Amino acid sequence: MAALPSKEAQVIRRRFGVSLEAAALSRLARGRRANSRTESSAEEGEITMTYVIVEPCIDVKDKACVEVCPVDCIYEGPNQLFIHPDECIDCGACEPVCPVKAIFVEDETPEQSKHFIALNKQFFVDNPGVKPCTTKN
Ligand code: SF4
Ligand code: SF4
Repeated sequence: MAALPSKEAQVIRRRFGVSLEAAALSRLARGRRANSRTESSAEEGEITMTYVIVEPCIDVKDKACVEVCPVDCIYEGPNQLFIHPDECIDCGACEPVCPVKAIFVEDETPEQSKHFIALNKQFFVDNPGVKPCTTKN
């Protein structure tokens, strides 16, 4: 695992606890590799994405992912949930709890589901001000 600046690791430990730290560090390391690829897109004004929710979530929506998301960045659409690309901290906690394997890191999204990357982004364009899905609603 790539070493992280101690200040960054301390922030993760303080905010999310030790159990999430390993996942967060791993994802951050992967995110840094991805950053070199996405920086040019960001400069062009595109939204970058970390995790996405794809078609197996449709009409399941059991919200197991919502239960574990530490930053409440998962939102409910009419027939599936979506992850906010700017709010997701790339911790990976949601991926293993999904009972239908609907959550992927963007660059590991199966070929047949890649169009959901754009659908996830479009949801937030079409629904400005939408409230996050939390365990309280
Ligand atoms: S990876 Fe999943 S659990 Fe972690 S912040 Fe993003 S949506 Fe939430
Ligand atoms: S855990 Fe999976 S199926 Fe359940 S709401 Fe989240 S993405 Fe959808």
